[in-house]
Amino acid sequence: MIVAAFLINGAEMNKRSREITLGKMHIGGGNPPLIQTMITTPLDNAEKAVDEAQSALDLGCQVVRTAFKNDSEFKGLETLVRNFKGEIIADIHFDYRLALLAIDAGVSGIRFNPGNVGGKERVKEIIEAAKKRPELAVRIGVNGGSLEREILNKYKGVTWEGLVESSLFWADYLESELGYFNFKISAKSSSVPETIAACRKIRESSDAPLHVGITEAGGGKRGIIKSTAGISILLSEGLADTFRVSLTACIEEEIKTANMILKSLGILKNGADIISCPTCGRTHGSVIEYYDRLEKWFDEKKWWMKPPLKVALMGCEVNGPGEAGEADLGIALGKNCALYFEKGEIINKFNNQNEAFEYLLKRILEVW
Ligand code: SF4
Repeated sequence: MIVAAFLINGAEMNKRSREITLGKMHIGGGNPPLIQTMITTPLDNAEKAVDEAQSALDLGCQVVRTAFKNDSEFKGLETLVRNFKGEIIADIHFDYRLALLAIDAGVSGIRFNPGNVGGKERVKEIIEAAKKRPELAVRIGVNGGSLEREILNKYKGVTWEGLVESSLFWADYLESELGYFNFKISAKSSSVPETIAACRKIRESSDAPLHVGITEAGGGKRGIIKSTAGISILLSEGLADTFRVSLTACIEEEIKTANMILKSLGILKNGADIISCPTCGRTHGSVIEYYDRLEKWFDEKKWWMKPPLKVALMGCEVNGPGEAGEADLGIALGKNCALYFEKGEIINKFNNQNEAFEYLLKRILEVW
């Protein structure tokens, strides 16, 4: 309840974004935030790129981005668009012609930084081509690594003020001078406070949807925690219409983490939740070991794509079942034994903790 109230308050703090289309999907305007990722297979290996994109979709990602680097990858991009069942965004840097080619190839979206494609006239050419495909979404993608030289000089380096100035300049150009509105904005840096400050400021002046993430966040626990810290705040304030957890890790890790963030904030209603105690001097047996086994087991089953379920793993029978009363089912370890309970009610007692754990897994499969 506290989380729900926090989310509502956060959303109320900010104006709602306008809705735009990305292929068959709708972004912003109160639609649920979409998860994005980026495939790593180069487009000259189109068959493998299709497989990788499809597996991202099958893992619960909604939008897939691919790097489109040169003309020779055009056929590969066409193949990807034709054979992939989801929405593809082409990621472009520096060469405005690649944006035009990507639009020709039939992508659902293009992402480029208007500040590094050769000036307003080039941007105009891209937008005029985009207008002919009303379902195609453009992303103004500004990040710390590709800010215009004048802005870097003005702010003496990468700052959130610079990200905001560049983003709003191009947003205003697209809207006021080109009459184009089917775009979203991203203003990312590898700093959590800078990215949050930039997104908040942009929303004050623009109702374009925001794509968010902490760029170059790293990998492992550090990358996950850094990304979660930033993305959670932006989601809870209603500032993330789409997001990517950018990790130095495989795509599955990115998508799982994205779903974990949504689940933790109460935005994702589906999926399993584990309630497990932190252990203390009353603990009987190895809660940590059972927890690791349970989490691995849930990951293998792609817990985020399954119906909602709360499972508890508690270290003692004194506080265990009671403290985990909200769980659908769980076990509480006792001295050389374990209690199995459902909705806080003890159903079974096992004199072997492993058997209790195996029984828990069996029951999860039966009720899930
Ligand atoms: S459930 Fe029991 S073992 Fe676990 S932290 Fe609470 S009191 Fe300690």
